[in-house]
Amino acid sequence: KAKEKGKNNYQFFNREMNEEILKKLVLENQLRKAIEEQQFQIYYQPLLDLRTNRIVSTEALIRWEHPEKGFISPADFIPLAEETGLILPIGEWVLNEACKQTSMWRDQGFDLSISVNLSNRQLMNENIVETIKTALRHHQLDPKHLILEITESMAIINLADTLHKLKQLRDFGVHIALDDFGTGYSSLSYLSMLPITSVKIDKSFIDDINNRMKKEIVKSITNIAHSIGLKVVAEGVEDEQQFTTIRSLGLERVQGYYLSPPLPADEVEEKVLAVKV
Ligand code: C2E
Ligand code: MG
Ligand code: MG
Ligand code: MG
Repeated sequence: KAKEKGKNNYQFFNREMNEEILKKLVLENQLRKAIEEQQFQIYYQPLLDLRTNRIVSTEALIRWEHPEKGFISPADFIPLAEETGLILPIGEWVLNEACKQTSMWRDQGFDLSISVNLSNRQLMNENIVETIKTALRHHQLDPKHLILEITESMAIINLADTLHKLKQLRDFGVHIALDDFGTGYSSLSYLSMLPITSVKIDKSFIDDINNRMKKEIVKSITNIAHSIGLKVVAEGVEDEQQFTTIRSLGLERVQGYYLSPPLPADEVEEKVLAVKV
């Protein structure tokens, strides 16, 4: 009897697994279709420089508008895109689109850089350095106006190959930011090993920055980052109190709903760039 029960459990487990696999396959097919039919869009979120009080950059954030399901969050499809390798064509599209838009903004007289998220899967691709250089040349964007956002992970830290590629990009003039700092491995000594130019302190630290302990942590991270020549960005700043605290700690840049949510390019122009401060 126990054997039978075990067998049933096994079948149940199996069916659950199949359902998961099926769901993934469906999503994967929809992702492929989304690429063909160009269902993606880019939203741009401004970053404010606290020294000059100017919008100095925007971060390109992908949006997927599924014809039936509506808006699907990147958190729900980027992981599968990475797993299937579809992040390669998707990422290349984002990069080109973002460079094109930023080049246009620069031509209009806005002195903006662009931040583009790069997944580990993209960094593992052997052509990634060439892909990035080509995009910059094609859209006539100076490499110093591109900031690649990478996340700390064992993959990045361990693979000599990845480090080599990051160094090539840095040598080319591209800036590299360590995204979501504080959520992963977060070893400060790794900061100095990576050819990065800035760190983005994760929103989870900013959320309770007015808690004394968190504030001290952000202060320490900032001081260490500064001492090795890195700029510090606060992400996910939502209110004035957080903004004031961050400014008092000497961080260089802020990003968050308090300033602006990610917006389509035309709305960035209307609501952010057109506003004279
Ligand atoms: P991320 O790179 O850390 O981007 C910041 C996320 O925080 C964005 O979510 C942004 O909309 C959100 N955010 C910004 N300010 C605030 C705030 O004040 N409050 C709150 N609650 N959220 C805020 P989003 O756009 O949903 O993107 C989620 C993640 O998906 C990104 O995190 C990034 O890891 C990934 N992602 C987005 N676009 C791309 C892409 O083109 N390529 C790759 N590889 N990953 C991407
Ligand atoms: Mg990012
Ligand atoms: Mg981030
Ligand atoms: Mg984040």
